Amino acid sequence: MQESSKHRRISLKRSLQSVRFTVWIYFAIFISSILLLIWISFIASLEATYRTRKTSNITTIANYILTEWADEAFTATSLDKLAHDNDMCILIQDKYGVPVYSYDLMSKNCLIHGTLSSRRLAEYRALACESSNGIYYAEAKNSRFGTDMLIFVMTIGSKDDPSGYIFLNTSLEPLDSTVSILRVQMLQVSLAMLILGFGISIFLSRLISTPIIRITRSAEKLAQGDYNVKFNGRGYTETEQLAETLNYASNEITKIDTMRRDLMANISHDLRTPLTMVKAYAEMIRDLSGDDPEKRAEHLGIIIEESDRLAALVNDIMDLTKLENGSAEINKVKFCVGSRLRDIMTRYTLLSERDGYKFYLSAEEEVWAEADLIKIDQVIYNLINNAVNYSGENKEIYIMQLVSPKTVRIEITDRGAGISEELMPLIFDRYYRAEKHKREVIGTGLGLSIVKQILILHGFEFGVKSEEGIGSTFWFEMKRAEPPADE
Ligand code: ADP
Repeated sequence: MQESSKHRRISLKRSLQSVRFTVWIYFAIFISSILLLIWISFIASLEATYRTRKTSNITTIANYILTEWADEAFTATSLDKLAHDNDMCILIQDKYGVPVYSYDLMSKNCLIHGTLSSRRLAEYRALACESSNGIYYAEAKNSRFGTDMLIFVMTIGSKDDPSGYIFLNTSLEPLDSTVSILRVQMLQVSLAMLILGFGISIFLSRLISTPIIRITRSAEKLAQGDYNVKFNGRGYTETEQLAETLNYASNEITKIDTMRRDLMANISHDLRTPLTMVKAYAEMIRDLSGDDPEKRAEHLGIIIEESDRLAALVNDIMDLTKLENGSAEINKVKFCVGSRLRDIMTRYTLLSERDGYKFYLSAEEEVWAEADLIKIDQVIYNLINNAVNYSGENKEIYIMQLVSPKTVRIEITDRGAGISEELMPLIFDRYYRAEKHKREVIGTGLGLSIVKQILILHGFEFGVKSEEGIGSTFWFEMKRAEPPADE
């Protein structure tokens, strides 16, 4: 019971954190904020904005009159037009309060022209002179209709000794009806926007989340072991890239999984075969050849050979594991490449004398390199052994040292069967063998993987050139080093 409610809580938390819900909620917040902003700016501040604009407008007009007043081209008609266009009354008086120009738009209702205005005008004049900049303005109520008016008074010339006065009066329209009409309209528009916005947000959140959900479902399948699953990130670039990467990763996992299975099958096969032989020959010695020294020696020889094969395989597995998991250490020393190669070749004397192999070494120049000697020896041995194993009837093996200003390249060439083009990329893979388990050819199937890991650890370039029926050349390139001081 407790488990299921916990499970429900987790799944609710997950859906609340999902891309779809998050996108939807952000979009909804976005729309609501915009609507709120519009409401605040249109409705709440409409009145205040209107009044501020009206005041600034009236100030501009008064200043305009003041600057143009002295100009002869500025006639009464210009003033009439100004008053008419701006829906306001204008009165200009001389310093004694005698009107020199008047435009009366509102007659009785006007606060500067109305019947009771003369006392009020005197008050306004005084207030303008008292002010710091010779300007006085105020909102006033029209006593007859109760409408709001804006009065503006400005002194002409110095405010201490003015040569005249400009009076402007404009009515402040009541905005209540406009606001209520707007409010209804806004409400309708807001509602429509909300519905539309929420619809779009649901659509958008789906659009954005669908490829991610699709990829997640495929990833779940992959996690359950279905390596054939394909990721589809169609929708937008990022998800397409993610899907491509995941497809690549799942291909790699598939490859590794196949390799792991092959490896297990191959190793167990290669371990079992010599073990069976060892057991069979040991039984033979016990039951049949124990008393026959000749036969016994032959059978014991086979047992030793098979044990060697087993030991080689186990050693290779251990070497490769160490190299691959990074626990192998590299102890670099300087060495003369040519003498090292000559040293190695002495070990093949028996093979050339007994089995007719011919080794051609060309390493005249004395050059030095720096590497882990034991590991580089192993690389050279593995490559020469492969050349011996796969040289077929020809039995000629060429070991060359090619010197360039910065590097020294070692090439090991045989005239054997070569490697087909399609197999070329695979041969450095762990446990890959062209002809699986051909027992007459000695090898563990790990030789080239060990070569590859050692050369990668050293940071040396390596590769292979091969043509079927002609032979193969395996090469690697070491950085040249200065000879030691005592040389
Ligand atoms: P193996 O123990 O099988 O030789 P390696 O890792 O050394 O394992 O080599 C992997 C495979 O690469 C071999 O099985 C063989 O098919 C191919 N190969 C390696 N060296 C040569 C070569 N010199 N000529 C032809 N094929 C080669």
